[in-house]
Amino acid sequence: MRRLMMVCLYLMAVSFAWAEPVGRLRFAPGISVGRRAILEGLATVYLPRIAEALGVADDPAPIEVALTEEPSAPPGVTLGRAVTLSAPYMQRMPEDAGMVLHEFTHVVQGYPGGTTPSWLVEGIADYVRDYVILPEPARWVAPAQADYRQGYTHAAALLQTLIVRHHAGDYQALLVPLNAACRRGEDGAAWLEAHYGPLAQLEAEMRQTPPSRTAR
Ligand SMILES: [Zn+2]
Repeated sequence: MRRLMMVCLYLMAVSFAWAEPVGRLRFAPGISVGRRAILEGLATVYLPRIAEALGVADDPAPIEVALTEEPSAPPGVTLGRAVTLSAPYMQRMPEDAGMVLHEFTHVVQGYPGGTTPSWLVEGIADYVRDYVILPEPARWVAPAQADYRQGYTHAAALLQTLIVRHHAGDYQALLVPLNAACRRGEDGAAWLEAHYGPLAQLEAEMRQTPPSRTAR
């Protein structure tokens, strides 16, 4: 009888563990098991690589993931460690893992609000995705055409220019101290100017730079 009880307790523990696997993400209700598996897989593989690119420890604290059905919502929104993804967007673009990785990069960035301008926050997130963890030259904006004020791939082109011209393609030489400054609450754009020169001059340098790849 006692042995039977132990077996029952063991089976209950196993079934509970099966139903509630321990992962990097915590999901709001209503997200299908298939989508949860895809998102958990992306988190497991790429969160450590994002942290490495930005030179920070991989924080094991869970990330809260929710979906919105709102048709006008942007593809993803991140606040602290809470990521809200657009269900309509994911239905339209089921292969856009890069959108999810962009939002995960914002989680790892963890900058205090209102210090670094959004063009640079978005530029760093796109740089990490498009040049480091999912290198995709097709997404790069040619430096001669880039306007860093637009953020995203445009600001990533400015970072790429600085990394190629000043660090021979070693992206961590720029990203790690820039990310650390932003996390401390410094203005990342002011940090760039203090280390590389006025933004107007950096923009002029970028416009003269031919398209190129990082060293690795
Ligand atoms: Zn973003």
